[in-house]
Amino acid sequence: MARAAVQRRLTWLRARLTDNLPASTRVRRLVFDVDGWPGHLPGQHVDVRLTAEDGYTAQRSYSIASPPEDPRLHLLVEDLPGGEVSPYLTEEMQAGDDLELRGPIGGYFVWSAAADAATPADRRRPVQLVAGGAGVSPFLAMLDHARRAGDPTPVRLLYSARTADDVLGGDLLGPGATVTLTRGAPPDWTGPTGRVDGALLQEHAFPPDARPRVFVCGPTVFVETVATTLVDLGHSPSAIRLERFGGTGDPA
Ligand SMILES: Cc1cc2nc3c(=O)[nH]c(=O)nc-3n(C[C@H](O)[C@H](O)[C@H](O)COP(=O)(O)OP(=O)(O)OC[C@H]3O[C@@H](n4cnc5c(N)ncnc54)[C@H](O)[C@@H]3O)c2cc1C
Repeated sequence: MARAAVQRRLTWLRARLTDNLPASTRVRRLVFDVDGWPGHLPGQHVDVRLTAEDGYTAQRSYSIASPPEDPRLHLLVEDLPGGEVSPYLTEEMQAGDDLELRGPIGGYFVWSAAADAATPADRRRPVQLVAGGAGVSPFLAMLDHARRAGDPTPVRLLYSARTADDVLGGDLLGPGATVTLTRGAPPDWTGPTGRVDGALLQEHAFPPDARPRVFVCGPTVFVETVATTLVDLGHSPSAIRLERFGGTGDPA
């Protein structure tokens, strides 16, 4: 069984783009039909492989933004000018174009209703999600899945975005979500501003004594900073799971 899972994971599948939609000022939502897609859990990612006519290949990872219930695979890809892969995906790919992808990948950065089903609702440890920029992508899959499954696990999201126009997720964010804007807020903004720090985590995240399971996702610098701050606040390192998107510069 395990061998079958590994073999399936390592198989490149043909994916056909059905939609390339604006999701925010810098991020596009790419929707794919994937031949033979085996299904996934919220939080997993895929590897995407592009092959040029001369045989040169480039490969990158992208979190799956859609819940398992959606038969199509949604990726939220930030356009990084000068990047090798993301500008092609966001600016050039059109409906009907194909690429290769493989997955789902990852069994660690995952949370699903099925995983909690055996635990009575009143004894479940809450789930704390902390996102920087496009790092909200796997959390949208989790939130959408939890909503569709009617899952009662308490969930909060603390989400750092540059501006109001950069916020992804729409009404999936819900009342358990707090968005902080790091690059200026509109006059009618009532939420917090500034980077995720100890004060914001203390005010908007589950406290350590609630023993939350914590997931942090985004650019590498963001993830490292938040993880250190969480431990300083008293969260157990063993309860914190990290997904680093790469990049060393802007922490969103
Ligand atoms: C498990 C995993 C999941 C990921 N999920 C997503 C996702 O859902 N959406 C998404 O947009 N990206 C995601 N990424 C990042 C993605 O794999 C690529 O690294 C990203 O698209 C940049 O690739 P590129 O070829 O365009 O840029 P590159 O040619 O690789 O790099 C160009 C420049 O951008 C910088 N850079 C690279 N990555 C980042 C970054 N993430 N943030 C800021 N600067 C960066 C590099 O340092 C370099 O200066 C994920 C990465 C991992 C490891």
